[in-house]
Amino acid sequence: MSGAVTALVPAAGRGVRLGADIPKAFVALRGRSLLWRAVHGLLESGCVDEVVVAVAAEDAGHAAHALAGVDRVRFVTGGAQRSDSVRAALDAVPGTDVVLVHDAARCLTPGSVIRDVVAAVRAGHPAVVPVLPVTDTVKQVDAGGAVVATVDRSALRVVQTPQGFDAALLRRAHAGDGGPATDDAGLVERLGERVTTVPGHPHAFKITTPFDLAVDEAVLG
Ligand code: C5P
Repeated sequence: MSGAVTALVPAAGRGVRLGADIPKAFVALRGRSLLWRAVHGLLESGCVDEVVVAVAAEDAGHAAHALAGVDRVRFVTGGAQRSDSVRAALDAVPGTDVVLVHDAARCLTPGSVIRDVVAAVRAGHPAVVPVLPVTDTVKQVDAGGAVVATVDRSALRVVQTPQGFDAALLRRAHAGDGGPATDDAGLVERLGERVTTVPGHPHAFKITTPFDLAVDEAVLG
């Protein structure tokens, strides 16, 4: 598949687990916001034509300031749930062929991961997610916290972003009424469509807590 590649960055959440008094996307890491780093990384990968960022209405000024001087970026108003924010961004790019959905909180994702996802979509895989193996032992527990089973981790993967899609498939996935999903590939799975994996990267982890921010500082250092 040829044609334009647009990256959608949902950044309309509050990110309260980070404990900052501003939304997570605007928290700074070595003088640059997570949002700036995520958008910059997408554009620097060399395979993204345009980025559309979904931000809460009250953060519009903040977002414009964070990305001042960055070309090929647009803003839309996000929604109540992450999927609403992605849908708002998707509605703003009717002509694109390939869509990436990328969390601002995965701001140090290497360009190689972004290029691998785009290449896999272009090679004919309509839904692609970067993944890592699970290294910890995983237990299933009951409501009281007692262990019910030890899960076979060899068949498990941790999923990262950017997730890449044939734009028409992602539109169909978001048009469904299957309830909220924590990622876009989950919506595609509900359609019964195949989701392909490519190798992710440890640096593409999601910043959720102050500890994660410290890890990112170390990676940058
Ligand atoms: O809360 P969580 O870290 O899972 O959110 C993942 C991403 O989705 C974040 O970048 C967040 O800003 C975004 N989001 C959004 N709109 C919402 C909720 C979350 O764009 N209503």
